[in-house]
Amino acid sequence: MEKRLAKLRERLANSNLPAAFIYSKENRRYISGFTGSTGYVIVTADKAYFVTDFRYRDQAQQQCKGFEVIIHGSSLFDQLKETILSNQIKALGIEESFMTVSFYENLKTNLESVELVSLKGMLDELRLYKDPEEIENIAKAAAIADDAFTHILGFIKPGIKEIDVAVELEYFCKKHGATEMSFDSIVASGVRSSLPHGVFSQKVINNGEFLTLDFGCVYNGYCSDMTRTVFVGKADEKQKKIYNTVLEAQQKALEQIKPGIVGKDVDKVARDIITAAGFGENFGHGLGHGVGLAVHEEPRLSPMGERILEANMVVTDEPGIYIAEYGGVRIEDLVLVTEDGHRVLSTSPKHLIEL
Ligand code: ZN
Ligand code: ZN
Repeated sequence: MEKRLAKLRERLANSNLPAAFIYSKENRRYISGFTGSTGYVIVTADKAYFVTDFRYRDQAQQQCKGFEVIIHGSSLFDQLKETILSNQIKALGIEESFMTVSFYENLKTNLESVELVSLKGMLDELRLYKDPEEIENIAKAAAIADDAFTHILGFIKPGIKEIDVAVELEYFCKKHGATEMSFDSIVASGVRSSLPHGVFSQKVINNGEFLTLDFGCVYNGYCSDMTRTVFVGKADEKQKKIYNTVLEAQQKALEQIKPGIVGKDVDKVARDIITAAGFGENFGHGLGHGVGLAVHEEPRLSPMGERILEANMVVTDEPGIYIAEYGGVRIEDLVLVTEDGHRVLSTSPKHLIEL
């Protein structure tokens, strides 16, 4: 945590900000190590405070190394005011895309003399670059999901419901060390596979249907995210063409993932292949996103993704083709950008699996 604090302080200094106020779940954990659900971080040039309530006293003292832990009384805002004003803080960086309007108003009323300034995603910038421990956790989360995929292949058969598959995936992941799923698993069969975010339903899985499984789990706070689409029964020519187009787009984009390439250029490689095959309008989302403490974070690999990929970023590569009232295919890998290219963290097979 000390390295992270040092990096944050360096960025604060560069922005002429004397202090930062952080309490979003991921940023709070990133900077303080705190895994609980309530706590407020104040970082100044030479101090770091963790403000929480009595329930988290012991946990905060154990986890927040290098922080002065303060337990607030009945009023959180009285405590924040005291801590901030006693440090003569004149301007405070806040998480603009997280703080609610009511919290902001409360802070403003209590800290009349303090200027509240947007941190402009300063923490998200730091979180772009994963350290070895973070990479290990993400890789472990990906490995659990890979094992879950292998397991689920033996479980899927015509007649079971999407929800049965989702529950089995979750049970397996938790049995093997995950604390939770990264998001509600997407288990979308048949015509529902044309919904890019078709969270599992009570629908029965039938023979002759695509089945898209998009899921991930959390290990030590870090997420994984992968998608495989399998076919229940024997795929026909059109279904094979759709699948193989997505696969080619996924693989060609993957080859491009390395330091120095701009996010939108990776997206374009996949998009061009899908467009050339006649399905351009059926790929309506970006190619990928960063993954870490949050399942969707920077950088974005989409037509809008201007960020240049660098070593130690973790991104997904997930093109898809979705045809309304017909079905869809998506294939997603989790990929670590390395000094000389990339390493794929999700290793499940990608050829068309017919069950
Ligand atoms: Zn996914
Ligand atoms: Zn994803």
